Amino acid sequence: MRSTGSWYTVKLEEDGQRVNCRLKGKFKQDRERFTNPIAVGDRVEVDIEPGQKTGIIGKIYPRENYLLRMSTRMRHGRHIIAANLDRAVLVATVRFPKVKPGFLDRFLLSCEAYHVPAVLVFNKKDLYGSEDLDRYKSLRDIYEPLGYPCMLVSAVSKEGLGDLKKLLQGSTALMAGHSGVGKSTLINTLYPYFELKTGELSRQTGKGKHTTTFAEMFEIKEGGYVIDTPGVKEMSIADLEPEEVAGYFPEMRARMHECRFSNCMHINEPGCAVIEAVQEGKIAFSRYENYLHIVFDLQELKKW
Ligand code: GDP
Ligand code: ZN
Repeated sequence: MRSTGSWYTVKLEEDGQRVNCRLKGKFKQDRERFTNPIAVGDRVEVDIEPGQKTGIIGKIYPRENYLLRMSTRMRHGRHIIAANLDRAVLVATVRFPKVKPGFLDRFLLSCEAYHVPAVLVFNKKDLYGSEDLDRYKSLRDIYEPLGYPCMLVSAVSKEGLGDLKKLLQGSTALMAGHSGVGKSTLINTLYPYFELKTGELSRQTGKGKHTTTFAEMFEIKEGGYVIDTPGVKEMSIADLEPEEVAGYFPEMRARMHECRFSNCMHINEPGCAVIEAVQEGKIAFSRYENYLHIVFDLQELKKW
């Protein structure tokens, strides 16, 4: 449910009790693959220490999926944010602060790459003027056909919150979002009993400073879990090869087998079905542009 460095809060399946646990030494080796050997959402086996209230985690079950966070400190550090997710919910706003399509596409790419279904929630509807609503609709028209449901909500007027609650109930969802979009307000409005720590801390530290906040899993009374990810700015895509990226853009994946060359990167090759679809307006230009940015970034990263 929670980790704070060397201690882990584990919820026992048998009786729902929470136990503070430590990790058996052997898992420390895993730090070569991941900077944290165990993450929120992991399913584990625990031995309760005789005569004590604490336990030892002796086994971690294989993960169905997970998401990684960008590690600024260590270029090659791979830090698992959370594992075994039914979906990832990105909270954004079209204004206050305005979402960048590049950020949406990177988030969706990491969800695709790590097999986590994604939902886009646009908050602060109460503040939207007609231009903002048009902006939301144009984003929805891009993303929903690709398989990413979009929701328009307001934590203040409570519009759309019923649908969001229904979506979250009975499943395990990670909630992500840039600071200021209202993620904490949303979660607090939906589930006041979570006792979420507010975003004050991470906002005060501002840019460039490392926040030491950890992802935490909260239990919904009616069933299901919400994972809050304070301080997570971006998911990592550093593990991907440039050649893989198109396969994680659903609209490119659907067309790339029609490209003349089987190793087409969809950049400037003749007979490219992806470029053709962009020219015909069947693939959103913003998506294609961000695809190119991501591929070039990954190519740069590989040179290091
Ligand atoms: P977080 O950084 O994403 O957790 O954002 P907060 O929940 O701390 O909210 C940032 C600011 O946006 C606060 O001043 C909130 O009161 C405000 N806010 C959150 N949701 C809404 C909303 O739906 N409408 C309006 N008008 N303001 C909101
Ligand atoms: Zn192509």
